[in-house]
Amino acid sequence: MRTAYIALGANLPSSAGEPIDTLAVAVERISELGVLTARSSLYSTAPVGFAAQPRFLNAVVALQTTLPPHKLLEALRRIEIEFGRDRRLYIPNGPRSLDLDILLMNDVCVGEADLTIPHPRIADRIFVLVPLYEIAARVVDPRSRRTIAELLSALHQSRDLDIDAVVRIESDQWAALSVDASRTTGAN
Ligand code: ADP
Ligand code: MG
Repeated sequence: MRTAYIALGANLPSSAGEPIDTLAVAVERISELGVLTARSSLYSTAPVGFAAQPRFLNAVVALQTTLPPHKLLEALRRIEIEFGRDRRLYIPNGPRSLDLDILLMNDVCVGEADLTIPHPRIADRIFVLVPLYEIAARVVDPRSRRTIAELLSALHQSRDLDIDAVVRIESDQWAALSVDASRTTGAN
């Protein structure tokens, strides 16, 4: 059994509704893949790389699962497709109805064409590190051997971030999603 940290992002409507509806349903689907043990707040974030698009909604969840990394990726891709993600319309860093990325999975290190764990861009993405820090501050990235708290503080030191880059938002719908915190190991 491992704990996978999974990043969720969306900035276009899907069959489930607006991005907030998509993320809420996606979390329910993800929880069917194991036990959901933590959920960050929801954040409104500025697009990175390709600016001419709506702001994103981002969050991170922790999933205890027996699925091996590739099976988890496959299951997440199926959820992306269910919510209208069409990879034929792919623009790098472009708009999307749902993006699900595996950030970390205990000490698993995978470096293959279709799957890299830890996710290669964790350390430079403020929209990933802020929600990840909320639920996994003391978790260690097995590649850099630094904690998430250290990675976030290094990013803050290396860059001046816009005040509106990552804004926490209140949502009753999001807060109502249940997690089984009794299953956490205390590692974070
Ligand atoms: P990004 O999330 O970087 O904006 P995509 O979601 O379009 O880009 O993903 C592109 C490819 O990244 C996917 O086809 C997937 O196979 C690959 N990939 C590699 N590592 C991971 C990971 N850790 N989590 C999710 N996808 C990954
Ligand atoms: Mg992705």
